[in-house]
Amino acid sequence: MNDKALKVAKALYEKYPEEKGGLEHEGDPFKLLIMAILSAQCTDKQVNAVSKALFERFPDAVSIVESKPGELEKYIYSTGFYNSKAKSIRKCCKTLIGEFDGKIPFEMKDLLKLGGVGRKVANLIRADVFNLGGIVADTHVIRISNRLGFVNSKNPVIVEKALTPLMPVELQSGFCHRMVVFGREICRAQNPKCDTCFLLSGGLCDGVK
Ligand code: SF4
Repeated sequence: MNDKALKVAKALYEKYPEEKGGLEHEGDPFKLLIMAILSAQCTDKQVNAVSKALFERFPDAVSIVESKPGELEKYIYSTGFYNSKAKSIRKCCKTLIGEFDGKIPFEMKDLLKLGGVGRKVANLIRADVFNLGGIVADTHVIRISNRLGFVNSKNPVIVEKALTPLMPVELQSGFCHRMVVFGREICRAQNPKCDTCFLLSGGLCDGVK
């Protein structure tokens, strides 16, 4: 555990108490998995916009694997890179059926066997579906963790490994989701709002020089 990391997690919680992530998966692990794959290079808002029709037509892995060529692509077209995303989703669903009886696995090594799933998505699933904790090292988490001095690297795996021991597993999911909102609103990549930042006034960051 790390006293500063716990203080940052508390401050973020106080600022964004309701934040639970932008993907509206309704607690359904299959939905979260597919939506997380779709969210690459796409906003959560756009992924949410396609999800209703998508999951009405494809409620499970079998329905995706058995669909006609090109059908899935039509549903996910607006999320961008739809051909490669459709390929990953089909591969993911085939592996889910072939190796995991259609159920979402919880071990990191098993999640990484699924198409389109890297450590970021795997940690998201482990944290948000199985409550096993997981640092989702997205661009905001990487940038802010460096600014706060928790790590000195842009490598997502190094950032994940550096942050993981800093706080208990039950705080990790909320911490990362709140970091994303904080990174969009305040600790932005360009022109961060250090002058009005609650982490600066709380003595947890010196700001960008
Ligand atoms: S003081 Fe600036 S750099 Fe530090 S966390 Fe706040 S916005 Fe980010």
